[in-house]
Amino acid sequence: MSAQPILVLSTKWCDFCTRGKFTKAYACHPFVYLKGTPLEAHAHSEWKACSACAELIDAEKWHALTERTLGGLVKDYEVSNEDRIAVRTHMQDLLAAFRQNMIPEA
Ligand SMILES: [Zn+2]
Repeated sequence: MSAQPILVLSTKWCDFCTRGKFTKAYACHPFVYLKGTPLEAHAHSEWKACSACAELIDAEKWHALTERTLGGLVKDYEVSNEDRIAVRTHMQDLLAAFRQNMIPEA
C-alpha cells in the first residue's frame, strides 16, 4: 500500500509555494517525512525557493511561509475547508522538518 503524492515537484518552480520561479536554493540534509499524510516524499537535498519565499525563509517567518505555501496548494488542488486544516498541519510539520534539516549558509 502506498500513498499517492499529490505534490509534484518540478525543477523550475519554487518548492514551497509552487508558483514563483526559483531564485535561491537552500541546502538541506535529505529527510523522509512520514506522518501518514498523502504528502510524504521529501528526500531531496536542495530546496528551491522563489524570491518571495526566500525572503520569508531568510527572515524566519515560518508562519507566513506556511500560509503562502498553503495558498498555492489550496488553489492548485482545490482543497476543501476540512482538508485545509489537515494540509496546514502537514505544511507546518513539513516546514519544521525542513528548518531542522536546513544547512545554514557559510
Ligand atoms: Zn515560492
